[in-house]
Amino acid sequence: MSKAGGCLCGDVRFRIEGETGRVTACHCTQCQRWSGTYWSSVSVPQDALVIEHGAESLAWYPSSERAERGFCVICGASLFWRQIDEAAPHVAVAIGALDQPTGLSVDLHIFTADKGDAYQIGGDAPRAAGDG
Ligand SMILES: [Zn+2]
Ligand SMILES: [Zn+2]
Repeated sequence: MSKAGGCLCGDVRFRIEGETGRVTACHCTQCQRWSGTYWSSVSVPQDALVIEHGAESLAWYPSSERAERGFCVICGASLFWRQIDEAAPHVAVAIGALDQPTGLSVDLHIFTADKGDAYQIGGDAPRAAGDG
């Protein structure tokens, strides 16, 4: 079943064609700064992510030498993460941007060693200190 989603203001709309991969909740310091707490996303093949509307409102911020983060320039919603490498096969899509119900659940918490002190990790999903 295909999934769809969008940003807070609704200008950026996308769909995911085909199967989705692993759902991770990332507790790294960059994801905390970017999202407000931690950032949960689902991995999908690059060519499975189709921007249906608002492509001109989607900007990419190079958060490190190897990765960039896609966001809506109107509302600021944190939507996507991908490796800058052209050959990178996958893009991470924010599960909070997906229309409900997503049918997804977190498979793995990553970078828990960097977790902020103001929240707790709940649930039974496995945890990895690094990138898992
Ligand atoms: Zn928006
Ligand atoms: Zn992260």
